[in-house]
Amino acid sequence: MTEKQYGGATGRGTDKMTKTSANVGLPPSKKEPSSTSAKVLSDNNSVQSGDNESYIKAGKIAAEVVKYAKSIIKKDVLLLEIADKIESKIIELGGKPAFPVNLSINEIAAHDTPAFNDARKASGLLKVDIGVQIEGCIADTAFSLDLENSEENKKLIMAAEKALLEACKLIKEGVTIREIGASIEKAIKSSGFIPINNLSGHSLEPYHLHSGITIPNHDNSQEKTIESGVYAIEPFATIGLGSVRDGKLSGIYKIEREGSVRDSTAREVLAFIYEEYQTLPFCSRWIYKKFNSRGLLALRRIEESKLLHHYPQLIEVSGKKVSQAEHTIIIDKDKKTITTI
Ligand code: MN
Ligand code: MN
Repeated sequence: MTEKQYGGATGRGTDKMTKTSANVGLPPSKKEPSSTSAKVLSDNNSVQSGDNESYIKAGKIAAEVVKYAKSIIKKDVLLLEIADKIESKIIELGGKPAFPVNLSINEIAAHDTPAFNDARKASGLLKVDIGVQIEGCIADTAFSLDLENSEENKKLIMAAEKALLEACKLIKEGVTIREIGASIEKAIKSSGFIPINNLSGHSLEPYHLHSGITIPNHDNSQEKTIESGVYAIEPFATIGLGSVRDGKLSGIYKIEREGSVRDSTAREVLAFIYEEYQTLPFCSRWIYKKFNSRGLLALRRIEESKLLHHYPQLIEVSGKKVSQAEHTIIIDKDKKTITTI
């Protein structure tokens, strides 16, 4: 998944947004935490730095799942079937989905996933964004497919891939994030397209998909340098104006803060969310799978209690097509490992 900057018309990231996204975990509650939410907190604290082995294992699974996904995705296959098969494959290979598979078509840049009863079919320029986690250590990777035999789609996809390759070559300790952004911008523009300015890559920490550092897709003038850590780089290219707006709500959620709900089913569902997903994104389709319609009702109750962030779809502002490519990279002093290849 990607990170959107909310920072005015230029779409440039702000420190405020960076801090907000760093705090996506569960802030300490004034109330006595329940045992399940306490587990979330202690898990995050105990594995703060993560473990490279789990990151590498998650990356290997993600790469395998990408191959599998490419073999099953064809025009007119139900998105629901694609999402279910990909997520099942992740589990079969020994991982867990780090977030619902994002299947975003044409001008929808990101954050679309099928609902439990979704009738939409694969078509156009399809972005497939896959997350795998092991013990909270995440591999985040994405690719795009042209399902309508369009030269323009193919070029747009190549532009995002070329930009990703350039950024992967460049990233290392001491490089500024603006230099990485500039290399992405240059690669996309030299292919004749425009990068999406207000979507970016991000640092990763255990159970935190967006852990505070933004990897921009353009020169954002920020001199902050890369340090050892885990990063997702994800260029988006478009034939449109180069930014996204919020669209409809996606059915993708994450726990935003601790709290309780009155309704007993809602309590049960909330406990399940804490246990299964912790601070990572999940979707209504998964809740339906486990609890049927009563789960969806409970989810609404939990949402009304303001405990959740509900991700909107992200739509290119001029309604034009968008491509995406993404890899996860471990920077460990002077060593660089692309985990999702
Ligand atoms: Mn990402
Ligand atoms: Mn992603």
